[in-house]
Amino acid sequence: MSTETAINILIIEDIKADVLMIERHLRRNDIAARCIWAASAAEISNALERGGLDLILSDYNVPGLDFQENLARIQKRFPDLPVILISGSIGEEEAVEMLKLGAWDFVLKGNLARLVSSIQRALTEVSERRALRRAEEGLRLSEERFQLAMCGANDGLWDWDLKSNQVYFSPRWKAMLGYGEAELQASPFTWVNLLHPDDRLPTQKRMGDFLKGEEDRIELEFRMRHKDGSDRCIRAPAFLTRDAQGRPERLVGTHVDVTELRRNEASLRQAAAVFTTTLEAVFVTDSAGIILAVNPAFSLISEYPEAEMVSQPLSLLQSGRDDPALYPAIWREVEASGAWQGEVSCRRRGGDVFPAWMSIALVGAATSEAVNYVGVFTDLSRLKQSEAMLQHLAHHDPLTDLPNRTLLHLRLEHVLDRARRDEKRCAVLLLDLDHFRVVNESLGHGAGDEVLQIAVNRLRDRARQADTLARHGGDEFVVVLEDVPYADDAATVAGSMIEHLAAPCRLNNGQEICIGASVGISLFPDDGDSAEQLIQHAGSAVSQAKGEGRNTYRFYTRSLTDEARRRLDMEAGLRRALEQGEFILHYQPLVSLTDLRVEGVEALVRWQPPGMELIPPYQFISLAEETGLIIPLGDWVLREACGQMKRWLDQGLRIDKVAVNLSPQQFRLANLKERVRDILQESGLPPPCLELELTESTIMARGDAAEGQMAGLKNQGIQLAIDDFGTGYSSLANLRRFPLDKLKIDQSFVRDIPADPAAMEITATIIAMAKNLRLAVLAEGVETTAQLDFLTGRGCDSCQGYLYSRPLAADAFMEWMGGGVRKS
Ligand code: C2E
Ligand code: MG
Ligand code: MG
Repeated sequence: MSTETAINILIIEDIKADVLMIERHLRRNDIAARCIWAASAAEISNALERGGLDLILSDYNVPGLDFQENLARIQKRFPDLPVILISGSIGEEEAVEMLKLGAWDFVLKGNLARLVSSIQRALTEVSERRALRRAEEGLRLSEERFQLAMCGANDGLWDWDLKSNQVYFSPRWKAMLGYGEAELQASPFTWVNLLHPDDRLPTQKRMGDFLKGEEDRIELEFRMRHKDGSDRCIRAPAFLTRDAQGRPERLVGTHVDVTELRRNEASLRQAAAVFTTTLEAVFVTDSAGIILAVNPAFSLISEYPEAEMVSQPLSLLQSGRDDPALYPAIWREVEASGAWQGEVSCRRRGGDVFPAWMSIALVGAATSEAVNYVGVFTDLSRLKQSEAMLQHLAHHDPLTDLPNRTLLHLRLEHVLDRARRDEKRCAVLLLDLDHFRVVNESLGHGAGDEVLQIAVNRLRDRARQADTLARHGGDEFVVVLEDVPYADDAATVAGSMIEHLAAPCRLNNGQEICIGASVGISLFPDDGDSAEQLIQHAGSAVSQAKGEGRNTYRFYTRSLTDEARRRLDMEAGLRRALEQGEFILHYQPLVSLTDLRVEGVEALVRWQPPGMELIPPYQFISLAEETGLIIPLGDWVLREACGQMKRWLDQGLRIDKVAVNLSPQQFRLANLKERVRDILQESGLPPPCLELELTESTIMARGDAAEGQMAGLKNQGIQLAIDDFGTGYSSLANLRRFPLDKLKIDQSFVRDIPADPAAMEITATIIAMAKNLRLAVLAEGVETTAQLDFLTGRGCDSCQGYLYSRPLAADAFMEWMGGGVRKS
């Protein structure tokens, strides 16, 4: 045998000659060997210690050495080191015993021929043993590695033998679903039964398709029921082995619990969706404040594209308008408490500065992750704008953008506070456009709006910077003048505003119109102490200005208020007077000029409040008209006059009629005719004994309906007279169509007879024309015989006046009648 490398042999032998003999034999048989000789236990130990031995050849009888003991020791330390027994004296049985104890072979010293083959066998066996052991070790290691890997991965293992239909489930597989090692049957149904009901069919179908197909690998994902009733999400990769015919034989796979993973993925997806879709800007920075990520809203608000912002410091957003101490304070707070929020001033990429509500939070400090800051901010500018807008809208008139009534009051109170403190005078001008209603009604609201805007522009021109100009409503404006030493100053401003407004203005439709204005002025502290009072008093003054011809201004005076208060008292008094019967009638005789006979009386109302002076009608008739009280009052007068006349007739008084004044309001009543009829019937007075007096304006105000209304009365037999003739604008010809009986010439013409030739002329003409129209004529207010003579001379039919008698109470009139007609 030839060996390429020399083998190391330990020869245990006490006789040197034998050693040499063995060496010679080996050499002769071409065995390259390095031989070490040991003759004692110590030498053996040394040799073993040095190592590198391939083989031991040992004599059985070495003095001082027990072979058996020695063999056992060697085998224990080097199980793969072959020990071949070489002996000359050992018996057959003993040799067999030694082989049993572990000697590899037995060779007789006298017959070394077997030695070479024995050595070769031993060496071959050793190398085979080593290979096997290596293989075993490799297997063991790989098994161990696999077990460790499974444990480390925390995956469950299953192994399905498709031939026997047995499934092995690893303990971890079972534990994953809450079961113990002894639980669950080793059957594929165990797995199917534990599948989530919704996943059972689709999973089984996929598995079936896979087993029928060509693929060797599959990866499934499904939900399984945990023993505690919860669902676990399982990922199951598996590998299929096939038999020689290619039929599926065994399916091995793992179960990985991905419940948490999927849950995290879902929340990550949600977080990502929030991140991208939220309207709030979101950013993430590293610990140094360098931007790592921004969301679309961030770019929208800041105008920085994502690519431009990432890697930039967050401080890029700072506008520089915040206190420089703010930012260090913010970061200190974030470090200390983990979060901060508040308002900061930011700058957009375009330079625009905007307020932002920002919150910053520290992330990752509690874990070993890197520290990040996550920030969220909203742009407050819109919010602030709309807040300001709402504020503005609540306090401004949308058409003219002037302060409205609310803001006016606030400002005026403010001005008054200052004026009070500085002891200064200020003025409130209430300006009312003249005839604005006419513009609105005839040209439309668009034109009305336009006029208002033009007016406002002109008023702004005339107001001083410090003055408040406000829209008080409709066509009313208020100007507050601060520091007005003299009332004249306010008048000057008012005058200049009126003048400026008076210039003609051209509207968009080309129409040219003139805006006039009336102004009422109240002064602080003279006319009032509060905004409320001053505006109210300026309002009274403007009414007066309007009443006195418009396009002018008036100051509020105390008497204006007194007048208003008096009227209020009077109204309450009138209501009470009606209820308590405080009205009385006086009667003034109507005297015929042809025979000086008393042909009738005119009933004239008076108010007699208990214990007070008699109040004449001019003091309360117009108020009664304004308040509507004239209707019940008129009814009372009519009833009283008819009743009195009837009593007089019954007493044998020889007069023809009673004349009663009818107010425009009464004349407007749709049921006037019925009311009058009822009262006549009630009193029993024949209708021809009643004469109703209407003024020209009463008739004209009724328009076309006047004719019918008069006919309704006339048809009952009632007499109709036109009162105060000459004060209106109606021509006599115009009156022709009305069923009138009498015309009463107004006393203003009579008064000037005979001094004024024009008055005489007019009176004469009226008489002539009335005659022409076949109307009876009566002259009112005859006080002198000169007047009487003139009227008689011109053919006037009758008269009434102080010349004969003042209006008298009923009793006084009876007495007067008893005395016969005489000139007083
Ligand atoms: P009127 O209907 O024109 O009444 C005539 C007024 O002239 C009366 O004033 C009468 O006193 C006055 N008068 C008569 N003769 C003379 C005279 O010689 N010289 C002067 N200066 N005046 C004279 P009175 O009673 O104060 O009534 C004033 C007005 O009050 C009446 O004017 C009438 O318009 C209205 N009035 C009076 N009573 C009533 C009534 O019951 N109903 C309605 N609706 N109006 C009435
Ligand atoms: Mg009258
Ligand atoms: Mg009259």
